[in-house]
Amino acid sequence: MDASQASRTDTAGEAHAEQPGRRVPVYAPSLIGRERDYVLECLDSTWISSKGRFIAQFESGFSAFVGVPHATSVCNGTVALHLALVALGIGPGDEVIVPTLTYVASANAVTYTGAKPVFADCRADDWQIDPADVARKMTPRTKAVMAVHLYGSAADLDSLAALCARHDVALVEDCAEAIGTLYKGRHVGGHGRVSAFSFFGNKTITTGEGGMVLTRDPDLHERIGRLRGQGLSTYREYWHDVVGYNYRMTNICAAIGTAQLERVDDILQAKRALAALYREMLRDLPLTFQADGPEVTSSYWMVCILTRTPAERDALRTKLARDGIETRPLFPPVHQMPIYHQPGECHPVSDDVSARGLNLPSWPGLSLADVTYVCQSIRAFYAAAAARADEH
Ligand SMILES: *Cc1c(COP(=O)(O)O)cnc(C)c1O
Repeated sequence: MDASQASRTDTAGEAHAEQPGRRVPVYAPSLIGRERDYVLECLDSTWISSKGRFIAQFESGFSAFVGVPHATSVCNGTVALHLALVALGIGPGDEVIVPTLTYVASANAVTYTGAKPVFADCRADDWQIDPADVARKMTPRTKAVMAVHLYGSAADLDSLAALCARHDVALVEDCAEAIGTLYKGRHVGGHGRVSAFSFFGNKTITTGEGGMVLTRDPDLHERIGRLRGQGLSTYREYWHDVVGYNYRMTNICAAIGTAQLERVDDILQAKRALAALYREMLRDLPLTFQADGPEVTSSYWMVCILTRTPAERDALRTKLARDGIETRPLFPPVHQMPIYHQPGECHPVSDDVSARGLNLPSWPGLSLADVTYVCQSIRAFYAAAAARADEH
């Protein structure tokens, strides 16, 4: 799938946007490699729990893919973040700066430690955490800054790393949405002290549920590994010298992950082609795509667009839903939720972007016909709006 194919179907243009019964989900995992074979191997060998060959294989394979030497697999991305923060020694009385425009797990992981998430606004063009606002939110209690690489693009890592170094706080990367994203040609996940990935069913590669913690620091890695497995001591059986967790990944999940990793380059290529196709086919409409910083090579986890107004976003989503096309709104900013809201707190850029943004169907197995269908439906929406404006 590439942009040249896009213009060919564009001019063909005879398909009708409304095709009863047609459904285009916003996401579906691509499980067409050796996932099934490897899972059956787990069942046949009885290695279905958290020991077995796929655990080590997936950890070393993922570590090599990202280019960070130490990897710890865990049972989801949220606990990957929690483990990273606990291993850094973050706890009650501490503050961690997180973007408000993110999935709620980024903030929840901070709350689990007893520390307080302090929200920062995002930038208007790439929607990533705004380093200028992070600088304003630094206090003597700040222990870490969480860079969330949103929707497959990447945060401004150089500015954040410089800021963290100046204040002597840890930079944590939430890479749940950024498998395969590059910053200055290097994978995200190796630019801070520690990073967390997610392999939920709609992430770029999946294990069903799963996560990974990566670090270059061997001592931190050792703590992360011990905390993952109930804080087991290294010198005595069933002897636990810290209160740890059971956050282990199963061999079955790692088996799926191993098969996914064999195809990660193909998946990323398909997603980048998809993003290019949407840009090409929707080029002349009054829509704004998420921008990427100058140092960023996005993996386009989700293709995101902004409409001109919140009402237009909602009307467009309704039209797409009527055509069987599933979309998602951008995340509501976490500071708006009653569980996190503080009186007087305001993040105008995140509020605005969130209210006008939506995710288009973005999974790697989408056919050219599917993308064409989605784009025709969007074009029909704007054509109808223009016709209505002309009547008045
Ligand atoms: C998906 C996601 C997570 C959490 O991952 P789970 O595997 O669902 O627990 C954390 N942060 C962000 C930004 C995410 O998108």
